[in-house]
Amino acid sequence: YVAKSQGGDRYHRASVRAAPTTAAKLSIVDVEGALERQELQLWYQPICQLQDLSILGFEALLRWRRSDGDLVTAEPIIQALEGSRGDLEYRLGNWVLREAARQFQRWQREGFNLDIHINISARHFVHPVFLLELQRLCESHPAFGRKLIIEITETAMLEDLERAKRIMLGCRQLGVRMAVDDFGTGYGSLTYLKTLPLDLLKIDRSFVADLPGNKVDWDITKGIVAIAHALGLAVVAEGAETWEQIGCLRELGCDQVQGYFIQRPMPFDEASRWLDTHFSHKGAQRLSPKRPANDQFNNS
Ligand code: C2E
Ligand code: MG
Ligand code: MG
Ligand code: MG
Repeated sequence: YVAKSQGGDRYHRASVRAAPTTAAKLSIVDVEGALERQELQLWYQPICQLQDLSILGFEALLRWRRSDGDLVTAEPIIQALEGSRGDLEYRLGNWVLREAARQFQRWQREGFNLDIHINISARHFVHPVFLLELQRLCESHPAFGRKLIIEITETAMLEDLERAKRIMLGCRQLGVRMAVDDFGTGYGSLTYLKTLPLDLLKIDRSFVADLPGNKVDWDITKGIVAIAHALGLAVVAEGAETWEQIGCLRELGCDQVQGYFIQRPMPFDEASRWLDTHFSHKGAQRLSPKRPANDQFNNS
């Protein structure tokens, strides 16, 4: 027990030291160099069951550890790729998938049976050989397919609905689940929700940020949950930063939650230590976060 609480302290200091820095605009050459020099990393943020805060899995998030020690977050990297012809975006996307599969297997071997969420760009998802590569990856990494959740944004799905549907059905055959990322921030109609074979809907954190005070966000979130559940989709709330928000999201009927309140994204080794600290025993998938003394929202 002592060792575990020391682990927690170590973690706390590490997370302060590793606070991501915002970088200036990156070029395609920067990103290509980072990929070739193997300076890219996946960081992992827990996704929990909302009712009891037990852990379901991790979302893999891209980071670049520069040679000068600085850490670059995902957004400038992804932005640089959007201006490219697509080849590098595809290569980087494949690296993300392979790295996640490899690290997933390491956790499996240690007895942690976790879901892994991965963000896939629109162009990567509709690439002619995406599905074939995914198939190969699932063959060489048993169990990965059934624990993989692919997150794509609304806009990505709407570009070519029929094509997106075909690829998603192919993913489903591999056991892979599909999540709509940043739901509510796109400009599309809701038609795709009933057309596409989806599994999860992630409510964008902009709707969560001003809870519990903002009545409009409360109503929107309630509406999104109703639509999602009517369609048989599980709802993940992103960006929960406070205990009050966890309480609200429970009241609103969300199913899962992700956010700084539970944990910030962590590098692989730190995520492994975090699992050791928070799983009371392997396989139980039980997380025990710090809670305030008068726990008015805990109705479980
Ligand atoms: P996303 O998929 O919506 O990921 C969630 C983002 O919200 C992450 O930012 C995460 O660090 C941040 N976040 C999580 N909880 C909280 C919270 O409580 N408060 C706040 N303020 N933020 C929170 P990150 O890692 O900077 O990633 C940004 C976006 O970049 C992602 O948004 C995703 O769209 C994209 N991205 C990240 N990794 C990849 C990748 O490997 N491939 C692709 N194509 N896109 C990626
Ligand atoms: Mg995501
Ligand atoms: Mg999101
Ligand atoms: Mg986002």
